[in-house]
Amino acid sequence: MEFDPRIGAAQALAPGILRIVAPNPGPMTFRGTNSYVIGQDSVAVVDPGPDNADHLAALLDAIDGRPLGAILVTHCHLDHTGLAPRLAALTGAPIWAEGPHRSARSLEEGEANALDAAADRSLPIARRLADGEVFHLGGERFEAVATPGHVANHMGFALPDRGILLSGDHVMGWATTLVAPPDGSMADYMASLDKLLGRAETLYLPGHGGPVSQPHPLMRGLRAHRRMRERAIIERLAQGDETIPAIVAAIYRQTDPRLLGAAALNVLAHLEFLAERGLAAPHGAAGLDARWQLTPREP
Ligand SMILES: [Zn+2]
Repeated sequence: MEFDPRIGAAQALAPGILRIVAPNPGPMTFRGTNSYVIGQDSVAVVDPGPDNADHLAALLDAIDGRPLGAILVTHCHLDHTGLAPRLAALTGAPIWAEGPHRSARSLEEGEANALDAAADRSLPIARRLADGEVFHLGGERFEAVATPGHVANHMGFALPDRGILLSGDHVMGWATTLVAPPDGSMADYMASLDKLLGRAETLYLPGHGGPVSQPHPLMRGLRAHRRMRERAIIERLAQGDETIPAIVAAIYRQTDPRLLGAAALNVLAHLEFLAERGLAAPHGAAGLDARWQLTPREP
């Protein structure tokens, strides 16, 4: 996907919508995290991005002295929230989010959380937004759209009058979303895709990568991709693979080696989703190290 933004330079995507890409490129962040400044006489910021002095300067430049009504965050990963406390302290703006970081399920005994370092557990949230809540910032009407899956507190922000949705890490054009237990949940992720497919917005502004101008076909494709992955995993289990490393080795042959850890977590998410529907089961506790099996069908 072509996306080669000037890092640190505000780009106008639509009237009253500026995007600034942070200088944190990587295999999980693409060119960097997108921060958005929305409004005219006053503004809101969506996802201030990582704690980085250059990015803070670029954001303040884009805000240009206009009153900042609130700092909205799509979810508590540090590449989205790291700068929020400093921006809040400098501007006096409150931080609004769905809620504090939390896992989709509790940790199994002895299980490590591979993504713990990414989580922001100390974000000072001034206001918790409920799914469907409508509020006004920067002269725009916003609607909070809970979209759990990537993490349990993931929330998109719609501008329903303009057909725009700030989709965070839930729907991105450049890559599929990481769904990594215990923080993430494949069942939640698929339900959130279905939920957005029932909405009317036609332009998505994601947390990483360029705008998505055909979100519905993209989301149908994402859903089909996950179903294909699930079928491949069922097939590996049927062939006798029992461990996540064996399944990853079989079905992620073309994947960047830096992403194989993430691939293992995605497979775990699929296995948990199968287990929730009674289609597969771990021996003992669910986790990356478990042995997994298809559940025998009733005769
Ligand atoms: Zn994230």
